[in-house]
Amino acid sequence: MSHRVVECVPNFSEGRDLARIKVITDAITAVPGVRLLDVDPGADTNRTVVTFVGAPEPVLEAAFQAVKTAAQVLDMASHHGAHPRMGATDVCPFVPVEGITLEECAELARQLGERVGRELELPVYLYEKAASSPERSNLAVVRKGEYEGLAEKLKDPHWAPDYGPARFNPKAGALITGAREFLIAYNITLNSRDKAHATDIAFELREKGRVARRGQTSPFYSSGKELRYAEGCYPCGNCGFDAASFAGLEAHCRDQHGYELRRLLSLNDIDAGKEVAGQKVYKAGLFTYCKAIGWYVDTYKRAQLSINLTNYKVTPPQAVLEATRKMAADRGLVVTGSEIVGLVPFQALAQAGRFYLKQQGKSPFVPVPDLLENAVFSMGLADVAPFEIDKKVLGLPRKLEHGLVDLTSVELVDEVSRDTPAPGGGSIAALAGALGAGLASMVANLAQGKTRTPQDEAAVLDAAEQSQRLKDLLILAVDDDTNAFNGYMEARRLPQGTAGEKAAREAAMQEGLKRAVEVPWATASACFEVMRAADLAMAGGLAASITDALVGLQMGFAGLRGGIWNVLINLKDITDPAFTADMQGRCARLLDEAQVLLERAMAYGDGKLAGMLEKKPRKEQK
Ligand SMILES: [Zn+2]
Repeated sequence: MSHRVVECVPNFSEGRDLARIKVITDAITAVPGVRLLDVDPGADTNRTVVTFVGAPEPVLEAAFQAVKTAAQVLDMASHHGAHPRMGATDVCPFVPVEGITLEECAELARQLGERVGRELELPVYLYEKAASSPERSNLAVVRKGEYEGLAEKLKDPHWAPDYGPARFNPKAGALITGAREFLIAYNITLNSRDKAHATDIAFELREKGRVARRGQTSPFYSSGKELRYAEGCYPCGNCGFDAASFAGLEAHCRDQHGYELRRLLSLNDIDAGKEVAGQKVYKAGLFTYCKAIGWYVDTYKRAQLSINLTNYKVTPPQAVLEATRKMAADRGLVVTGSEIVGLVPFQALAQAGRFYLKQQGKSPFVPVPDLLENAVFSMGLADVAPFEIDKKVLGLPRKLEHGLVDLTSVELVDEVSRDTPAPGGGSIAALAGALGAGLASMVANLAQGKTRTPQDEAAVLDAAEQSQRLKDLLILAVDDDTNAFNGYMEARRLPQGTAGEKAAREAAMQEGLKRAVEVPWATASACFEVMRAADLAMAGGLAASITDALVGLQMGFAGLRGGIWNVLINLKDITDPAFTADMQGRCARLLDEAQVLLERAMAYGDGKLAGMLEKKPRKEQK
């Protein structure tokens, strides 16, 4: 079953009357499946930032309920605050966390906008990734004129809302909704109390860069002299080159340093469309989607780089950390650790774990807890405060609590042996497949870095990646199989008084049975992939691992065979002949393919084993 998590971060134009904010957040938490993570009111801004997460459908519903409630309880006509705003719900971005793309989040924003426009009759603007034109992607441009200028703005055909009427609603204003990437607030800690040290490195990292200087007398950049553009002399901020014209410098920055000079200058409030002679020269920073400053934190007695990463898929925290470690060393400093403020998506931390495992010459495809632990240790995330994975990481893989898989091996075997029908063959088939995947992963990971050819290396890495995924999926299937009949059993308890009730009950029972077929079919399909991974790992793996790979292969086959048997027995009560025939055909084809693979791989493995046994006596004679 796919695991999807989206974050929603609406900003409401009320930061002082917490009772009214409570009415809004109550509307959010009333939607089942939504988890409220944070409510952050600001009195000066008179604005509250709310964060909640869940699967896409409930999050979309909760967002709508929040916008609706805010339109009822807040009144923009009497709102004042230090932050720019245009409506009661001012902005409402959707943010991908796990199993969902940015484009799918933009679609959620469009759905919210359409419904708000239609049901609440409010004007709605889309921004960032959901924007209807490039001009509207920038929030500041969309919000220009704010609430006070909204009535006029709506009269301008150029600013017709994306949804809803072009009619001013004095109480609620307008909604701005869209999609953006997850923002990671990330601090890097130095072994120094000097804020200037942290600032010096932060300015090298951030996209905005820093005022360019030349003639440094120490490792600290700020010891140099400031540069300014002059007519006929346009110095490069990133090297010693001087261009004769601004156009020449633009080309140089693009070709030699890979950045757009106009963008860098505009980030520093310089309009390159006008004459730049007399203006300060800027040096571009190392990372895009990166904002950074230095500060001193009294609680830790240390200086930190305080960083916002607005697209971790392009600029991940570990890349920024490694650049900082290098620059710190150049300046005689040490990075003692780093800190995630708030939450981090699972994929961001998993990506960091894989990066460091590769650096350490280890396979990056290891069990999820090992992967995350490696990231936490490598990045020093527990340096200044404890890092609790369950509390800090969003979108962790689905984990069962109090499931069969939580039992010890002895308890599980005893449980199977009791005179209760469940857990039965379906759960054991899934467990066999999971164990097979574990062995395939082991064989692949042992071979990593020791294979004969680059092709073998790629094959074992692929096998390790697949096996880890299949193992986690099949472990969940151990319990899923035992629960597969729940839907059918619930349907059986439905009332059967009238003919209509009887028909409804029968239809629900048939749906439940089809679900009970899908679970073992998913197990059988995954087990076939386990066999393929074990085969791949055996072919590219070490000779000493041949028998482990063979056991993995056989366990995969046992799981596959078991899954198919469970599909077939559950088909007998299904009254849809097309469904039954289709499933039988799929089972027969999968079994054929699996048998061919099994025979071939066993012949290969047995052949290798025989070869090893033949060589043995000759070795002893030497
Ligand atoms: Zn240059």
